[in-house]
Amino acid sequence: MYKIPMVDLKSQYLEIKSDINERLESIFLSSKFIKGPEVSELENKLSELLNIKHIITCANGTDAIQLALMSLDLEAGDEVITPAFSYIAAAEVIKLMGLVPIYADVDEQFFDIDLTNLAKRISSKTKAIIPVHLFGQSCNMDSIVDFANKHDLIIIEDNAQSLGSAYCSKSLSGKTGSFGSIATTSFFPSKNLGCYGDGGAVLTNDDKLAEKLRMLANHGQTIKYHHKLIGINSRLDSIQAAVLNVKLEHFSKYVENRQNAASVYSDNLHQLNEIRIPLNYKNSLHIYHQYTIRVLNNKRDSLKAYLDQNGIASMIYYPIPVHKQDAYIESYGNDLHLPVSERLSKEVLSLPIHSHITNADVLTVCKCIKAFFEIN
Ligand SMILES: *Cc1c(COP(=O)(O)O)cnc(C)c1O
Repeated sequence: MYKIPMVDLKSQYLEIKSDINERLESIFLSSKFIKGPEVSELENKLSELLNIKHIITCANGTDAIQLALMSLDLEAGDEVITPAFSYIAAAEVIKLMGLVPIYADVDEQFFDIDLTNLAKRISSKTKAIIPVHLFGQSCNMDSIVDFANKHDLIIIEDNAQSLGSAYCSKSLSGKTGSFGSIATTSFFPSKNLGCYGDGGAVLTNDDKLAEKLRMLANHGQTIKYHHKLIGINSRLDSIQAAVLNVKLEHFSKYVENRQNAASVYSDNLHQLNEIRIPLNYKNSLHIYHQYTIRVLNNKRDSLKAYLDQNGIASMIYYPIPVHKQDAYIESYGNDLHLPVSERLSKEVLSLPIHSHITNADVLTVCKCIKAFFEIN
């Protein structure tokens, strides 16, 4: 066991235990396990928090992206742009849907999609773009919206790591998830807003899409046993919704604790020559799903091992870019070279951060990192 873990869901639970247990017991007694009142309560609360009209909960964040793609009348062979330096979910469902992923490189300081080199690779078949708000901050939405308008692309925001973040520029302003036609999120336990199992949601302001998404997530039906569309079974159950309803009451406090921990990290680490601390776009609110540093000069793996020896957890998000994954490589062969994604996968290291991390623990991590660079 690590003395400083990446996340600490147990401390969080102990603080909200009585509320959680009370809600769970009432679900057990009502037996409304699927589509119970907890689910609509959650959808309404999220709609208000995010200022997004429709929240369609579903079974997980990967299904949410699949549902988004299913709702868009795309055809086999249509192309969808997504970043190579990210979690696999978007690329996975693009492929499963018979669509063609176009991998984009990312920005080395902000880790979000960088569209500058794509002009030559997109075609008349390119229909949509899935930007990922990685690690807790919004992508540079001005450039994505410009790009999408110019090339007539539908935007699906993957907001699994940044629910509650925001972007505010001269031309755009709102919570992440409100800029595209559709957005998706995940309630995986370790996400900023996580349940006690799998969960996810699709978000949209479009009434027509919302209706279709709701049907798609429930076997293509609105009236039981009348199937208007070929759908899937992807629902959030009442138990998970109840957990999220309790946590939503504490959500802003959880986010504040992450932001506070991030600023303690940055204050203590920014002067180290061989580290780059995460940067925050001035237009974006960072809610630090991850606090991800870059370790230069090939020292990332030895720093990780050193932290490990000292009882401090750390994680590599992500060790292999999508276009170099075994199952995905064949679509491009070894030809596709995305230098920033490939380099970041060797430099990034995410440090412990969560709703209940203490300053003392953050300082212990910083001290350990400093000690490493004194001897390496
Ligand atoms: C977690 C995550 C997902 C998928 O969520 P699941 O609920 O685990 O299916 C998708 N995209 C990103 C960027 C994620 O971090």
